[in-house]
Amino acid sequence: MSDDENLIRVAVAVPHAEGFDYVWAGAGERPAVGSRVRVPFGRGERVGIVIEHPATTKLARAKIRPCDSTIDAGPIIATELLDILRFAADYYHHPIGEVVKHALPASLRGGRALAATRDTAWRLTDLGREQARAPSARLGIRQGAVLMALANETSVGARELSRRGAARAFLKRLAKRGFVEAFELADAPPRRSVSRPQGLELTSDQATALEALEAEAEGFAAFLLHGVTGSGKTEIFLRLIEKVLERGRQTLLLVPEIGLTPQLVGRLRERFGDALVVLHSALTPRERAVAWGEAQSGEAMLVVGTRSAVFAPLPHAGLVIVDEEHDPSYKQQDGFRYSARDLAVARARRLGVRVVLASATPSLESLQNVSSGRYRLLRLPRRIGAAGPPAFRLIDLQKHATRQGLSTPLLASIDAHLGRGNQVLLFINRRGFAPALFCPQCNTAEECDRCDARMTVHARTGSILCHHCGSERALRWACPRCGTERIGVGAGTERVTDELRSLYPERRIERLDSDVTSRRGALAAVLENVARGDTSILVGTQMLTKGHDFPRVTLVGVLNADQGLFGTDFRRNERLAQTIVQVAGRAGRRDQPGEVVIQTHFPEHPLLRSLLDQDYTAFAELALEERRRASWPPFSHLAVWRAEATQRQRVFEFLTKLRDHATGQNVAVRVLGPAPASMERSRGRYRGQLLFECGERNALHTLVTAMLEELRQWRETRRVRWAIDIDPAEL
Ligand SMILES: [Zn+2]
Ligand SMILES: [Zn+2]
Repeated sequence: MSDDENLIRVAVAVPHAEGFDYVWAGAGERPAVGSRVRVPFGRGERVGIVIEHPATTKLARAKIRPCDSTIDAGPIIATELLDILRFAADYYHHPIGEVVKHALPASLRGGRALAATRDTAWRLTDLGREQARAPSARLGIRQGAVLMALANETSVGARELSRRGAARAFLKRLAKRGFVEAFELADAPPRRSVSRPQGLELTSDQATALEALEAEAEGFAAFLLHGVTGSGKTEIFLRLIEKVLERGRQTLLLVPEIGLTPQLVGRLRERFGDALVVLHSALTPRERAVAWGEAQSGEAMLVVGTRSAVFAPLPHAGLVIVDEEHDPSYKQQDGFRYSARDLAVARARRLGVRVVLASATPSLESLQNVSSGRYRLLRLPRRIGAAGPPAFRLIDLQKHATRQGLSTPLLASIDAHLGRGNQVLLFINRRGFAPALFCPQCNTAEECDRCDARMTVHARTGSILCHHCGSERALRWACPRCGTERIGVGAGTERVTDELRSLYPERRIERLDSDVTSRRGALAAVLENVARGDTSILVGTQMLTKGHDFPRVTLVGVLNADQGLFGTDFRRNERLAQTIVQVAGRAGRRDQPGEVVIQTHFPEHPLLRSLLDQDYTAFAELALEERRRASWPPFSHLAVWRAEATQRQRVFEFLTKLRDHATGQNVAVRVLGPAPASMERSRGRYRGQLLFECGERNALHTLVTAMLEELRQWRETRRVRWAIDIDPAEL
């Protein structure tokens, strides 16, 4: 133990639970908490963030290394953001350095300066103006276009130019030739103008919800906005954001995926223009740094982003919204396993602002938070302008055979809807041609070498593919063992599409799955063809559920509801109900109600009955009651230890030892397992898990902390890869 007035605690991105202590040896005061420093680390040097000015350290005086190099003049991470990062590190039991690393754009982690934001602008020089009036030099098409853009306006911000497609390279070439010059815009005020389409009236449900939200405009309050599909949730977001913007405050809007929902970002861009920045994983490091910098400087009044945007800087926060709050993608499934939805609530509380969780199919956790009084429920029970809710129909597959996944009654419905000039959506949660390649002679299906999984047949690419690890082999119909012609068993999107094309050769039938959308621009093209009415039938996976607006669809078919009915994960029913309700929400239009046809072998299953005879709320009540009886979340708290190794025995030895140490330490915590993971072998590694379950969160966390401390002494940890997953999304 040593005391020093000049101690700093620094988060460095290494797998170490806490920060590292140094003594400040540079000129002047200790660097501020939240600023970056360069510290000696091992034999090299690292960039870290000062997270604390501690009074004492556990290190011996002689062991404290000096640090004398700062990068920033002041904090680049505000105290509030640092607070939530530390909270997240504690709560998810993840090293603080790794958590901080997750929150910062790569260029800042590397020690570069905060990226210049839209302070930089470009204008023509005298020479450039002459060139624009009477061209004397020969310019390429792109350089010419940039020059003309600048000639028509006195100056244009770098950001705006890049949006118009002017690459930096062209600007630099023009600058080199003396035609343009860059200059600093002196504190350009952020654009706060808002353009709202004329004559857009709120429904009475919308108005009531908005009023309730506005009544709590100051301070922390949590709302669950349960609005059926098409009830106008987005318009409520837009009005709220507008009001927050008028007060000069920022909004953070989290969405599960940005690529799949171009319509939402389009609407936001239309309404808020330049005040909006988007943060997601497909940005280049530079784009990310710029967007982050604009949120940080307060120029960006609206930050829209996926999971990690929950850590965006928000110096003037006024509102946090989590759209599609039930979506499992808010939980990170590897590394730093946090829930962006849960952290959004925790952050809003610290910021002292409202948080709105919205969904057509709220998670059972959030509904329980309404029951316990933590969240306030706002409902939008009616669709705007639609003829009414869709009618559900179950088709019993024990009575009706299917051909390539399609039963006769479903085909009859498809015929009827197409005959009336409408469109059809078919949902099947399997991409590819067939989920198994089966030899009737050997009685076996081809399996992946590295996973406990069957290879999926992809006829288009002539390959078989493991959907878990991505292993790929050429498709050969002849069995390698006996030479018999093998068969593709079951149906995926490719096969269903093929079948429909042969049944309706004159119609346009398209597919929407990740095989299609991996081609650049393909998603937009598919969505456009449906929106224009050119596509008669769209066959797709989970992607169909992602909030698309298809105005002429009147029939939705769910081809294999049974996949979600049985299994070991306690959330399977909830996920299935959410999928069915979300995909069903695409059916129906102004003048004709929609129809939803579900194919199942279990038409009497209570889950399907509650959903169909009543609605999602009725299902949720039933499902919550089941969870309460089985004491699953939200009526208990879970932590899962996940372990994997190339040898099965090592995984189980490790988890068994962990169990033996944990058992009896706290009677409130139930220790269950070890058990194999739902797919035991994946990517050539064996996987197992040990479950901690407890009614009180604190007892659970105390035990996890104790076990982590214990694990530090173990040699086994070198031979197995392990992780702790708090509030797991999947078991
Ligand atoms: Zn065979
Ligand atoms: Zn595999």
